[in-house]
Amino acid sequence: MENSPENCNVKVALHIRPLLRHERQNGGQECLDVVPGSAQVLMGSHSFIFDHVYGAGGSPSDKMFEECAVPLLDALFQGYNGTVIAYGQTGSGKTYTMGTNPKESSHRGLIIQVMHTIFKKIETLKDQSEFQLHVSFIEILKEEVRDLLDSAVIERKETSDGNAEIAGKNVLQIRKASDGAISLSGSTEVGVSTQKEMTSCLEQGCLNRSVASTDMNNQSSRSHAIFTIILEQKDKNKAEANTSELMGEEFRCAKLHLVDLAGSERAKRAGSEGVRLKEGIQINKGLLALGNVISALGDEKKRKEGNHIPYRDSKLTRLLQASLGGNCKTVMIACVSPADYNAEETLNTLKYANRAR
Ligand code: ADP
Ligand code: MG
Repeated sequence: MENSPENCNVKVALHIRPLLRHERQNGGQECLDVVPGSAQVLMGSHSFIFDHVYGAGGSPSDKMFEECAVPLLDALFQGYNGTVIAYGQTGSGKTYTMGTNPKESSHRGLIIQVMHTIFKKIETLKDQSEFQLHVSFIEILKEEVRDLLDSAVIERKETSDGNAEIAGKNVLQIRKASDGAISLSGSTEVGVSTQKEMTSCLEQGCLNRSVASTDMNNQSSRSHAIFTIILEQKDKNKAEANTSELMGEEFRCAKLHLVDLAGSERAKRAGSEGVRLKEGIQINKGLLALGNVISALGDEKKRKEGNHIPYRDSKLTRLLQASLGGNCKTVMIACVSPADYNAEETLNTLKYANRAR
C-alpha cells in the first residue's frame, strides 16, 4: 500500500499511575517528576523525553485515548493495521490502561473506548459501506500461543503448586504462507455486530487468561494477551459494478491489535523459581525481541539502509509482524509506578521505552 498516512509510525507514551493507597500507607514516596508543559520525565539524574506523558503532572489520562488510539482508528478505517502495546512491570497499570479486564475496574480503559468509537464510526458510515467485524483473543505463554476464545477445548486444572493453569488443545501454530503472510492456524475469529457482543468476547477471554501468583503480585500475569479487532469494509456503490474490483479499493480489511504484555520485571525480582523462572526467561524473550523490533523500526537510518528487522526472534513479534512497521501505526504505552521502592524497575521501563522511541 502506498500513500502512508505518516512517516514515523512508532510513538511511545509514558503512563504514570498514581501512588496507590497501600503504597502511601507504607510510606512510599514519588520518585518521578514531569517537567511542566512537556513530555519530559526526570528521575534522579536521568532524563527522558517521550511523545506523550500521562499522569503525575503530565497530561490527564483521558487524553490518552484521543492521542494514542484515535489516529490508529482513523487508519483502521482506511485499511491500515495498527498496534497498541502496554508495557511495564507487574502492578504498573498495563491492564488498567488497556482495560483488558473489563470486570476488574469501573474505569474506561482504552479497549472499551476503542470499541465504542468503532461502532459509532460504523453507524455514521453505514450508508456508504458494509462492515464486518471479527475479534480474536490469544495469549502467549512460554512461547506457546493459546486461543482464549476457544471455550470448547479449554479446561482449567490445578497445578501442584496450587495455581490455575489453562490446559486443553487450544494451542495454536503459527503458519507462514508462500507470500510471507503470517497467520495463526485455527484461531477463533468471532463475528460480532454490537459492542455488547464484542465486550463479551473480551470478558470470556479474560476468564480464560492464565494467571499465576508470584511474590510481587498474586494477579501477576506471565502471559502476553493480544485482543485483535478485524474490520472488513465493502464500498456499497462500487462493489456491485465489477466483482474483480472487490479485491481492490472497494474492499478493505485491517486489524487493530491491543496488547497487554506480561510483566517486564526480572524473574529474580519477582521471587520466581523453578518453572516460573524458566517462564520468566521466555517471557523476556518476547519483550526483548519486541524492544529490538520497535527500536529498529524507530531508527530511520537503519530502516533506510534496509536493515533487517528481527521479527523472527519471538512468537510475539512474528504475530505482530504485519501490524508493526511499514504503514502500520504502533503506539507503545510504557506504564510505570511512581513509588520509590519500584525505582529500579521504573528506570528499566523508562530505558526500554526510550530505546523504542
Ligand atoms: P498490571 O496490569 O501492569 O499488573 P494493573 O493494571 O493491574 O497493573 O494495576 C495495578 C493496580 O494499580 C490496580 O489496582 C489498578 O487498579 C491500579 N492502577 C493502575 N493504574 C492506575 C491509574 N492510572 N489510576 C488509578 N489506579 C491505577
Ligand atoms: Mg495486568
